[in-house]
Amino acid sequence: MSILVTGGAGYIGSIVAEELVKEGEHVIVFDNLSCGHRSAVHPEAVFVYGDLADRQAVRQVFEAYPTIDAVMHFASYTLVGESIEKPFQYLGCNVTNGLNLLQEAVAHGVRRFILSSTANLFDQPERTPIDEEERIIPGSPYGESKHILERILHWLDRIYGFRYATLRYFNAAGASPTGERGEDHRPETHLIPLTLQVALGRRDKVTIFGDDYPTRDGTCVRDYIHVADLAQAHILALRALDGGSRVYNLGNGQGFTVKEVIEVCREVTGHPIPAEVGPRRPGDPAVLVASSEKIRRELGWQPRYPDLRTIVEHAWEWHRTHPYGYGD
Ligand code: UDP
Repeated sequence: MSILVTGGAGYIGSIVAEELVKEGEHVIVFDNLSCGHRSAVHPEAVFVYGDLADRQAVRQVFEAYPTIDAVMHFASYTLVGESIEKPFQYLGCNVTNGLNLLQEAVAHGVRRFILSSTANLFDQPERTPIDEEERIIPGSPYGESKHILERILHWLDRIYGFRYATLRYFNAAGASPTGERGEDHRPETHLIPLTLQVALGRRDKVTIFGDDYPTRDGTCVRDYIHVADLAQAHILALRALDGGSRVYNLGNGQGFTVKEVIEVCREVTGHPIPAEVGPRRPGDPAVLVASSEKIRRELGWQPRYPDLRTIVEHAWEWHRTHPYGYGD
């Protein structure tokens, strides 16, 4: 199978692309390197430099690689906080870039599509863990942009028989178990890499965004899922698409507080990692924990690395051996 992976030079996209290559698939990565890194692209994947905003460039990829029969769409602006400051960038670009991709996919006869979606669809969950029946209330323009794309996919399925899966990730973390690919955002905003940068001596301390939430220690609870387990979910979803479109929430079903995560980072690195409490970050719900029963039941998905310690160990292995990330 030939699979077009947009954002395949980014954190999650590059690790899914690595897994696809290992499974013997032909992978074409399309990325504008605005957030991704050229050296994150697996050497056996084809790399096409291009921007989804450029419809002509998108068309050319499908023309150059007529064997493409599935698309995995990772390329996106992904920061909740930034999306509140720049709503047009998120509601504009994430949606129109996705539409460019979808229009060209449909025009070239592609009918299989996997969308990276998000837990930010669930800003005010009524039940925890959060399953697919939960009411969708996006927490930001970022979450709304993913919701709009999910709705567009719903209509493409009805009209063209376009088969899609949307995977709503909770907190992706860790690195590829080979140690070759990991998280390198610039600027970094995520808890685990920021905390590990303190252990590396690149930062003095980590700031805890609020300790007055209604949780066991007052800090936010999140469900951290190993990026390699996310990758497996993509592969299973792709193989199941011919049986119909589907929507899954993806996490481990277990929540950890910010303080607990920092403590695990201290244990794994052996570094004291100073932490201080700061104000809440706008847009952060107190608790986000997924129920992934549906994907377990329907596709037999089983996380290989469900425990937080292993997730942090893999992340640490990557950061320790790549203290400046991809360095490009
Ligand atoms: N967080 C924090 N300090 C930081 C970065 C993140 O306390 O420097 C908290 C954040 O408020 C959230 C959790 O850590 O509750 C995970 O945040 P992250 O940005 O890693 O992922 P998100 O939940 O936004 O997808």
